[in-house]
Amino acid sequence: MATQKPLNNESVVARTPTRQITVVAQDPSVRRDSKIVMARIDVPTEDLAAGPMGYRVQVVDFDATRRVFHGEHDLPTSVDHEPKTWHAGDPQKIETDFRFHAQNTYALVMKTLARFEFALGRRIPWSFRTHQLKVAPHGVADANAFYSPEAEGLVFGYFEGASGDRVFTCLSHDIVVHETTHALLDALRERYMDPSNPDQAAFHEGFSDVIALLSVFSQPEVVEHLLLGEHKRGATERFVTRAQVSVAALRKSALFGLADQMGGELEGVRGKPLRQSAELQADPKLKDTDEFLEPHRRGELFVAAVMLGFINAWSRRVLESGLENQKAFPVRRVAQDGADIADTLATMWIRAVDYMPPVHLRFGDALSAALTADWEVRPDDSRYELRKCMRNSFEAWGFPPSSKREDGSGRWEPPPDGLKYDRVRFESMKSDRDEVFRFIWDNRDKLQLRDGAYTEVLSVRPSTRIGIDGFVVRETVAQYYQVARLTPGEMKEAKVKAPAEYLRTIAQTVKSSAAAIEGAGDDDSHAQDLSDVEADTTPLYGGAVLIFNEYGIVKYWVPNDVFGKDQNERLKYLWEEGILQPGRGSTRLRATRLSTLHRLRAFHSRVAQKDRW
Ligand SMILES: [Zn+2]
Repeated sequence: MATQKPLNNESVVARTPTRQITVVAQDPSVRRDSKIVMARIDVPTEDLAAGPMGYRVQVVDFDATRRVFHGEHDLPTSVDHEPKTWHAGDPQKIETDFRFHAQNTYALVMKTLARFEFALGRRIPWSFRTHQLKVAPHGVADANAFYSPEAEGLVFGYFEGASGDRVFTCLSHDIVVHETTHALLDALRERYMDPSNPDQAAFHEGFSDVIALLSVFSQPEVVEHLLLGEHKRGATERFVTRAQVSVAALRKSALFGLADQMGGELEGVRGKPLRQSAELQADPKLKDTDEFLEPHRRGELFVAAVMLGFINAWSRRVLESGLENQKAFPVRRVAQDGADIADTLATMWIRAVDYMPPVHLRFGDALSAALTADWEVRPDDSRYELRKCMRNSFEAWGFPPSSKREDGSGRWEPPPDGLKYDRVRFESMKSDRDEVFRFIWDNRDKLQLRDGAYTEVLSVRPSTRIGIDGFVVRETVAQYYQVARLTPGEMKEAKVKAPAEYLRTIAQTVKSSAAAIEGAGDDDSHAQDLSDVEADTTPLYGGAVLIFNEYGIVKYWVPNDVFGKDQNERLKYLWEEGILQPGRGSTRLRATRLSTLHRLRAFHSRVAQKDRW
């Protein structure tokens, strides 16, 4: 009889769900005693193949500009096997060691993915069919980094900085997290890359910046470093004064401090979102100015609203948890509080995505979604008052919650009464698109399914989350989408108002193609005819998200009516931006948008007024 072998240390380690790995805490310009500030983060444990290649990420160290393959990198299996120079933050070694670059990129992508999966309580497939996201740490010789759905991956550039040193975007914590967040948001809300309204265009950037910044702030190493300031970093006495934890002082030390440290060389790539949003003074009128209708600048308003809400919650927490007249606070505790709040806030905003409408997002919708998602799992907000801080901050920037719920909480309203459940099977509804479609179809009047619009259930996903107080919240999140192509007459009937000038353009297009048909021979008249059917129609998009509770009852319904008055605003915006053309859909525009945005960001970050995606 075989005896069972005792577990050796290695197999115990292999069984733990996460393991530690060394990364650059922010970017190589953030230094202490001339060493790069490093951090150890947790990533899911897995046996990596050379590349490194794991179950969700594949590092391909190919340089497309120079057409050089830097080889497959074999990563150390634990922090104990890492070269000592890595954790020590030796600048020379870190900047020239491509094996470390591969580890840094792999680890931050995996950490971000794990962060989203933890918050949402499920696996998140990428927006494309393959399981592994390709990541090129030295993909292009360019001051750029971008997510490309077509390439199914992330490309990080490198360039010669002003000082003559080579700058690697793959070594920047916030750039790697930012790009990964684009990929994850695209996986969760596939229509958010379409042009729709100023807020939606800004949201992809603003949200990716927020998750990236909160990820940086959730490392106590970084926060402590910022709080101590340049002059006190070597001191043994590590306290901050009461004045240093006021809102104004934390804003200066943490937000401006990080922005300053981030280093000028990368400003072009990152578009200075932190620096610029930290400098802005809250003003509800800013959002209506021409300057802040431009997507990058508008994204900064979102970043400012979240980050200043964060600072308020942090300052309050430190002061309230101390003694009444306490004069000094241990820096480690203040940093830990800041890191905890950043982490909780990141969870809140990631969970919010499940509660956002599938199309035409506005910042007020995002806020209502965040307030709802957070309340569901963390009903008691007294510890950090995060919901209150977020709400106050967004309102100060002119973005009140979209929900008009009577209790004033800003959470989404309950769904319409009288929904029918008797013909569907809830077990199937947890994963089956057809079953969910049947539910929607059975309730088509109440759920605003419009005649003449095509409806499709985009996704049905289970979600299991554990609140900080230990109870489990089980939900099913289903998204459906409606699209209609209407002629001017049909738009009028549906009470959708398109800009008058646009309607004149349609009339002219129809007239000139009618003339063309008349002039054409019999052979191609049929083909011409078919394209004309499209030419005088305008695509309209709508849909909703449905959140079912664990008993299969709808808790929330967040709709965007395909024929509703929101469409008027959207058509006006698209027309003014020059995107709306008769007969054209918007999927064509999706392909290049993000990489274009990032290029614009790099080269003309302040002048991209007429951004065409
Ligand atoms: Zn971006």
